[in-house]
Order: sequence, then structure tokens, then C-alpha cells
Amino acid sequence: MTAQIIDGNALARQIRAEVAHQTAALQARGVAPALAILLVGDDPASQVYTRHKVNDSTETGLRATLERHPVSMPQAQLLARIEALNHDPAVHGILVQLPLPRHMDASKVIEAIAPAKDVDGFHVASAGALMVGRPGFWPCTPYGCMKMLDSIGYDLQGKHAVVIGRSNIVGKPMALMLLAKNATVTICHSATRDLKAMTLQADVIVAAVGKRNMLTADMVKPGAVVIDVGMNRNDEGKLCGDVDFEAVRQIAGWITPVPGGVGPMTRAMLLVNTLAAAERAADASR
Ligand code: NDP
Repeated sequence: MTAQIIDGNALARQIRAEVAHQTAALQARGVAPALAILLVGDDPASQVYTRHKVNDSTETGLRATLERHPVSMPQAQLLARIEALNHDPAVHGILVQLPLPRHMDASKVIEAIAPAKDVDGFHVASAGALMVGRPGFWPCTPYGCMKMLDSIGYDLQGKHAVVIGRSNIVGKPMALMLLAKNATVTICHSATRDLKAMTLQADVIVAAVGKRNMLTADMVKPGAVVIDVGMNRNDEGKLCGDVDFEAVRQIAGWITPVPGGVGPMTRAMLLVNTLAAAERAADASR
């Protein structure tokens, strides 16, 4: 059996079209959804990511501004800028591009963002809301993975999901989202004793490690759904995931490719969160 591909590009395109439609509807009510992106320093990858975020927003009708600040910016100045944006009613979402320069405390900076504008979903209040099942912003990458499972009509009820990776932005929130859908969830990490024994039991595997080919075909149960979050480079410098794609696709039931899988979905979910922030602000001010 060869796995069916979950096409992140196609699904992201569909989501962007829905966001564009709803953004137009909100604009007709006099609210222009807006995202403020703050970039500190000149990290080349961050420059590419922030440019994509602005372009994606603009293409869907969201207003996005990119503020660039020098690497020498004092943290207090960044916190003051965030505070001003927190109080600006024309701004619905605030995103501080990570990583920040070494002299800054990323947790302190992220926690300066008003939770109602935390469209990256990294604020501790957003994490807490996800944990207790209250409304809040979900981190874009695991949220995008959930949309991918939705898109194939996959019912997680009673299924065994194995998440490899326990970061605050991918692994842990992913596990909570799967749990909220009544999956039985196992979280694996670098100290897990027998990873293969875990993954072989899984109906769903989410690989979020950052190591090329760390999930091989002998670790996958026939028919399992395999979601590859990893972003690595192969020997030719091409983007690849954590999964040995060609071999695993012969075993799995569904699989996400890299590129063209979770990456575009992560970008799309930022737009979804920004629109949601604007809708909530509009509803609150009625
Ligand atoms: P982190 O480095 O923060 O976390 C990696 C996790 O993998 C850790 O929990 C670590 O365990 C675990 N790990 C490391 N080695 C092993 C191993 N041999 N076996 C099992 N677990 C292991 O990374 P992120 O969560 O931020 O990102 C993970 C990957 O996803 C990266 O490749 C990143 O580039 C990619 N990514 C992709 C996105 C997208 O849009 N497609 C968005 C965000 C991330 P421990 O905690 O014990 O150290």
C-alpha cells in the first residue's frame, strides 16, 4: 500500500481563501484585521519568514506591518513598543519573530504581548488556555497539523497518537490538542528508551524533532497517519523533514510531505489566528 499524501499547499490555499472571504466580511463591518510583526536584528532566516508572513497577510486582505529594529535595541525599548501596540485598537495581532538577540529574555518579551493579541499562541496564558480547554490562540504549527487530520476526516477518538518532541511550541501543544480530541497520547523525547516500541503502536505519529530520517519505515505500523513537522536539509541542501519519506510512504496510510506539508499550514494558521483576534475584538466592542 502506498500512503495518500496530505497536501499542505492545497489545504493552506483553501484556508487562505476562507480567511480572505471572512476578512472581507469583517471589513464590511468597518474592522480591518491587522497584524504587527516585530523583527529585531538581521537573522537571514527570520527576514525570510517575516517577509512571507507579510505577503501571506496582504494577499488575504489582512493589514500587516513589519517593524525592523536593530540588533542593539534595548529590551526595555522593545517592551515599550509592545505595550504601545497592546493599546492600539487598530492592531489585532502582535508577533515577535524569534529568535531574539541574546541580550533579550524571550519569555519576558512574549509575555509582554496582550493575550488577546497573541496570534502566535506562545504566551503562557495561551498555553494555559489550551491546557484547560478554554478559548485562546493555539500555536500555529500544531494547529495546522490538527487541520490536516480534519481534512482527511480522521476521527481521533480512542486512537493512539505518538508525538515525538516536547517543545513548548510544537510537541507539548500538539499532544494537548490530540488529547482534547480523545486520542490516547504518548509524548516521546530524547530520553525515551525505546522509541520504536512506542511508534509501532501508534495510529498517528507526529514527528517534531529536527533530525533527518529519524522516523524510518520499520518504526511505523501499516496504515498509520504520519505527520512530519521537521525542517532539515539533506546532503544536497534541499529541505526535508524528520521522516524517511520514500520508505515510510510504502507503509503509512497517510503522510505529509516536506516541503509542501506542515510548513504552508503553519503560515496559514497565523492568518486564521489574526482574523480570529480581529473578530473577537470586534465582537467585544459591540
Ligand atoms: P526543539 O529542538 O525545541 O525540540 C525538539 C524535540 O525533539 C525535543 O523535545 C527533543 O527532546 C526531541 N528529540 C531530540 N532528539 C530526539 C530523539 N533522538 N528521539 C526522540 N526525541 C528527540 O524543536 P521544535 O519543537 O522547535 O521543532 C522541531 C522541528 O520542527 C524542527 O526541525 C523545526 O525546524 C521544525 N519546525 C517546523 C515548523 C513548520 O512550520 N514546519 C514550525 C516549527 C518547527 P528533549 O526535549 O529531550 O531535548
